[in-house]
Amino acid sequence: MAKPSAELLEILVCPVPECRAALVPHDQELVCAACGLRYPCEGAWPTLVPEEARPAENQEAR
Ligand SMILES: [Zn+2]
Repeated sequence: MAKPSAELLEILVCPVPECRAALVPHDQELVCAACGLRYPCEGAWPTLVPEEARPAENQEAR
């Protein structure tokens, strides 16, 4: 299964303007190391859109 390359991960950062932290691959998502938003990753290209991201696991309200 395709996944982001190490080179791509090195240049990717959280798209939230006030965050811009590194992203850590986790399962099929990229997790922001700072704010914890989880970006879906379909194939080799992650969807780095805050509106598409899921909140951090410990912040899921329900
Ligand atoms: Zn972030």
